[in-house]
Amino acid sequence: MQATIITIGDELLYGQTIDTNSAYMGRELALLGIRVREILSISDDKSAILEALARAEQASNLVLITGGLGPTKDDITKVTLAQYFNTTLVRNQEILAQLEAFFASRNRPMLQSNADQALMPASCTPLRNDRGTAWGMWFEKNGKVFVSMPGVPFEMEALMQQEVLPKVKTYFQLPVIMHKHILTAGIGESFLAEQIADFEDNLPTNIKLAYLPGIGSVKLRLTANGTNREVVQEALDVEVAKLVAQIDKHIYGYDDDQLEEIIGKLLTAKDKTLATAESCTGGYIASQITMVAGSSAYYNGSVVSYTDESKQALLGVKQETLDSFGAVSEETVREMLLGVCTKFGTDYAIATSGIAGPAGGTSDKPVGTVWLAYGSPTGMRTKKLTFKGNRKQNIQLTALMALELFRKYLIEI
Ligand code: AMP
Ligand code: MG
Repeated sequence: MQATIITIGDELLYGQTIDTNSAYMGRELALLGIRVREILSISDDKSAILEALARAEQASNLVLITGGLGPTKDDITKVTLAQYFNTTLVRNQEILAQLEAFFASRNRPMLQSNADQALMPASCTPLRNDRGTAWGMWFEKNGKVFVSMPGVPFEMEALMQQEVLPKVKTYFQLPVIMHKHILTAGIGESFLAEQIADFEDNLPTNIKLAYLPGIGSVKLRLTANGTNREVVQEALDVEVAKLVAQIDKHIYGYDDDQLEEIIGKLLTAKDKTLATAESCTGGYIASQITMVAGSSAYYNGSVVSYTDESKQALLGVKQETLDSFGAVSEETVREMLLGVCTKFGTDYAIATSGIAGPAGGTSDKPVGTVWLAYGSPTGMRTKKLTFKGNRKQNIQLTALMALELFRKYLIEI
């Protein structure tokens, strides 16, 4: 079972639009155990489309196509598909009705070019698009399937989930593939690999381990395959349990878990509140925490105290502290934590102060030096970190480590 992905659009070749559709489709197919043989990105050109279709038909049993379905003249995918499959365009009443309702609800007239979006190749099965006006098309030819979808990523994604993937699963006999993602933070990829070397060597042949490093975090993916769903699931569970037992203290979550979401759940369970006092992270931690819907239940707010003056005026950091130890010091982040807990009346806080770079480093405090304080006013912990990244990476790493250390603190207390 192999697939070819064809993305159509001049903008992809000019480099004006990044081909995110291929990445999305590739990921979704991999989850089903379908190997993508090739990704072809081509222009809105009839001969290029015909050639790509022929090439894909040779190589694959499933061909996923995006782009070129708009109402304008530059979009020619539909007529070219009709030519390729030797069929004609016919008006589809269901699509026409949807289009009429769409334009009526927006108080806009429906132009001929819009109405023509209801024209479908006679031999295809139309696939409903409830997020736009260009429906998808499903063609079958000698046991092979060709699917054409609009280029707009969020329309394509909905079509994939609602129409294409369910149909692919029933049309083809697919192997059972299961994944489990184990999310770790604060330990480097090679250290992790060393700790679990024996585990990796002893994995059964139908289970594979992959390392997916991010900034300050490593995602481990276990992929199991077989023919029987229950058997595959059981084998995967056994290996996940073994792995978790070995690296438990580095794991912050699984699959789609987000660190800030997990912290939110822990705070909610304890009925506690949090504030942040951010210097070098400039509100980045606050931004991440507030990405979680409902975070106002446990997160009270932040002070971005970027200068010495604002640390004093807004958080009550003492002049002597700044004079004696500097803004990037354990003493300063301690006082920032105390100040922000008082200001917002929270149980806990996270405070950061560091040198993100590229300038501002000294020999005893080089660029990448960061002090963190986290926890409660009476039970706070502090940590000095030294990062070697660029400015953006240092900020991201600081935020990640601050959240991860705070998560561990919440579990331990
Ligand atoms: P189209 O279906 O060709 O009218 O595409 C509509 C819009 O979707 C284009 O203007 C692009 O912004 C976007 N788009 C098309 N193809 C892709 C792709 N492969 N990846 C990401 N965005 C795309
Ligand atoms: Mg286009």
